[in-house]
Amino acid sequence: MAEIINGKELAKKIRKELKEEVIEKGLKPKLAVILVGNDEASKIYVRNKNRACEEIGIEFEEHLLPEETTMEELLKLINELNERKDVSGILLQSPIPKHLDIKTAFETISPEKDVDGFNPINIGRLEINEPAFVSCTPFGVMKMLKEYKIHIEGKTAVVIGRSNIVGKPLIQLLLNKNATVIVTHSKTRELEKYTKQADILISAVGKAKFVKADMVKEGAVVIDVGINRDTNTGKVVGDIDYEEVSKKVSYITPVPGGVGPMTIAMLMHNVVQAAKNQN
Ligand code: NDP
Repeated sequence: MAEIINGKELAKKIRKELKEEVIEKGLKPKLAVILVGNDEASKIYVRNKNRACEEIGIEFEEHLLPEETTMEELLKLINELNERKDVSGILLQSPIPKHLDIKTAFETISPEKDVDGFNPINIGRLEINEPAFVSCTPFGVMKMLKEYKIHIEGKTAVVIGRSNIVGKPLIQLLLNKNATVIVTHSKTRELEKYTKQADILISAVGKAKFVKADMVKEGAVVIDVGINRDTNTGKVVGDIDYEEVSKKVSYITPVPGGVGPMTIAMLMHNVVQAAKNQN
C-alpha cells in the first residue's frame, strides 16, 4: 500500500513557517487581488486566498471590477498596483470576461509582483533556471516531492497534460532537477506506453479516474493534480483511480487533500518572497 503524501498537513506546516518568518523579519507583505465580473467559483477561490493571507499576516486588498470593465481600465489598475510600494504581489483571478485580453493583462503585471508566475518574463527565467516566480500548482508539486525526500535526479518523470499553468512549468521544473522528462497530451498515441515507464507520474488532465492501475509502474510515485467531479457520486476526485492505483505504487497524493492545498500555500510563499525581494 502506498504512503500518502499529505498535502493538507504539509500546506499547514508551510503556512505556519511563513507566519513565523513574517513576524521574525518584520515583513509587511500585501497581496492585491483583482476580480473582474461575477464568476461564482472565482469568488470562492478569492475568499480562500483571503483567509490564508489573514492566517499568515499578509495584508489582502481586493479590487472588484464590474463585468463591463474595459481593457484600458484594467491595465490602468494593474499599472497603479505595479507602482505602489506597499503592494508586494498582484494576482489577477481568472477567468476574466471574454471581451478582455488576459494575456496582455498578465504581461502587464510587473514580473517582480507576479506571484502567480504567469508573466512571460518569469516563465523565461524558469526556462533558464534563474530565480523566478513559479506557477503555484507545479511549485506545490515540487515542494511535495522535496518534503517527502523523493529522489528526482536520473528518474523518468512523465507528465500528463501540457497547460501553461501546470504541465509546461512542471516539465521545466523536473528537468532542472535532472529528471528525464516525458510529456504527454491529448494527441499522444498509446499513452500507457509512456506512463508505465514513469518513476514519477504526474497527471494534470482534468478527467475523473483517467489513470488506471494497469497504466502505472509498480512502486512509482504518483501525483494527482486533477480536480474533477465524479458524475456518479458527486464527490471531488482526481485524475487517478486512487483505490486501485494506491495498491500498486510507493507514494500517492489524495484528492482532496493533496495538491490543492499546496497551491494556496505556495501562493502565500510567493507573496512573502516578493515582500522579501522588495525590502
Ligand atoms: P487544461 O484543460 O488546460 O489541460 C489539460 C491537459 O490535459 C491538456 O494539455 C490536454 O492535452 C491534456 N489531455 C486531455 N485529454 C487527454 C488525454 N486523453 N490524454 C492525455 N492528455 C490529455 O487543464 P489544467 O492544466 O488547467 O488543469 C488540469 C487539471 O488540474 C484540472 O482537473 C484542473 O481542475 C486541475 N487543477 C488543479 C489545481 C490545484 O490546485 N490542484 C490547479 C490547476 C488545475 P492538449 O494540450 O493536447 O489539449
